[in-house]
Amino acid sequence: MERADLDFANLPFAYVKTDANIRYRFRDGRWDDGELTPDETVSLHMASTCLHYGQEIFEGLKVFERPDGRIQTFRLDENAKRFQHSAGKLLMEPVPVDLFREAVHRVVRANRRFVPPYGSGASLYVRPFLLGAGAEVGVKPSGEYLFLTFVTPVGPYYKAGFQAVKLVVEEEIDRAAPGGVGDVKCGGNYAAGLRATIGAKERGYAEVLYLDAREKRYIDESGSSNFYAIKGDTYVTPTSPSILHSITNKSVRRLARDMGLAVEERPVAVDELGTFDEAGCLGTAAVITPVESITYRGREYVYAEDGQAGPVTARLYERLTAIQWGEAEDPYGWTEIVPEP
Ligand SMILES: *Cc1c(COP(=O)(O)O)cnc(C)c1O
Repeated sequence: MERADLDFANLPFAYVKTDANIRYRFRDGRWDDGELTPDETVSLHMASTCLHYGQEIFEGLKVFERPDGRIQTFRLDENAKRFQHSAGKLLMEPVPVDLFREAVHRVVRANRRFVPPYGSGASLYVRPFLLGAGAEVGVKPSGEYLFLTFVTPVGPYYKAGFQAVKLVVEEEIDRAAPGGVGDVKCGGNYAAGLRATIGAKERGYAEVLYLDAREKRYIDESGSSNFYAIKGDTYVTPTSPSILHSITNKSVRRLARDMGLAVEERPVAVDELGTFDEAGCLGTAAVITPVESITYRGREYVYAEDGQAGPVTARLYERLTAIQWGEAEDPYGWTEIVPEP
């Protein structure tokens, strides 16, 4: 295999054209066999429900080249199950878990030369998504669906090299406003949050930290990742009906427990900002990104001086990434080798 001609060690988090994507269509009550294609465009009926009524959901997972050269997925079954959960919430046809796995394996194998080499710090990001593709004008679910998956080699989502980022609490814009959908990974939530995210970036912050929409008293999550704080020997992460259940957060909670930390899943009041020793963002793209500071009502609460992660955050990051990269043994069964054809 000749590797794609890319500067893998310095990749941004951005779309790169690869050799193929894979597409399956659900029609007349069944999924077809799927097709790999180099075509980067999608042809849709102009009355498709994804275009008018937001019948669109997606997933994001990463695959990694291990030190032994094999490729492994990380918690693929969790992404597949969440994809089904999201589909159910928006009355879309769920993709069977086995079909989801097959799609990821086929598209990763077809793009083997784009998998970043072990040690580069980059990985292959996999983006499955589901579109309501039937023509409807009345408000009703589609009878036809497109399930597509593309891949793109990516570097860090925020700053390169485990650098801490600044967040700002946004109270004016509700991502979880009426019409938003809690706990569904869908474009609609991102559309609702885009204005806040771009506004925060223009003011020098990496992302927004949202509060609960009803009372503005509790921390929800940041635009595209879950939130945690470290208080002494305790890992604290918010529960809320309007946050997405992050698979990274679920994994890190387990690692934290196994390292002897207490784990609290509960509403986390914004009044607690002054009591955190460390804080971080959690997501497939963000991995664990340390939070340097959070600005709330004009006051900046600092958790990482000079952008350096605190000791607990650093330990959690080391443990998680060692498993993802295949450097450490995986006692949890989270990783799976992508089979050779
Ligand atoms: C994808 C996503 C996350 C992170 O979830 P992971 O499963 O860890 O990737 C968090 N919040 C939102 C809104 C997301 O879309």
